[in-house]
Amino acid sequence: MNCPVCKEPLVVLELEQVEVDYCTSCAGVWLDSGELELILETDEDRNRLVNLFKEATDVNEKSYDCPICGKQMRKYEIGEKGKAVVDKCRKNHGIWFDKGELQKIVEFGSVNKENKIINLLKNMFWKSMPLAENKISLNIDGGNK
Ligand SMILES: [Zn+2]
Ligand SMILES: [Zn+2]
Repeated sequence: MNCPVCKEPLVVLELEQVEVDYCTSCAGVWLDSGELELILETDEDRNRLVNLFKEATDVNEKSYDCPICGKQMRKYEIGEKGKAVVDKCRKNHGIWFDKGELQKIVEFGSVNKENKIINLLKNMFWKSMPLAENKISLNIDGGNK
């Protein structure tokens, strides 16, 4: 699977049995359908976050194409206007988060601070810590997906 932005192959990060596709070139993150729900461990966090997603009607940013079906995705705004805009596949294959957007959403959604996957992501990308110091397995996606 390739990055919808720069078309580079995405790297698969296995975090607590959830596969997160990450672009090393633009630092964007792709979550397959249902993975955001898996990352959010509690129903409380899930409901709160899902309610923050609103279809964006007047965003000028170009929508990317879904890395699975190749169809143009739809923009969703999260939080108050202009805070974070993500691309979601119309066929519900998943959601693309540009660099920093997943982090913003986690903050807006006030996700449980004990959340393991969020903490792994924080350590990996949001504190610019070297990857080798984290207990994660890094698999390069062979492009068969
Ligand atoms: Zn990229
Ligand atoms: Zn799709």
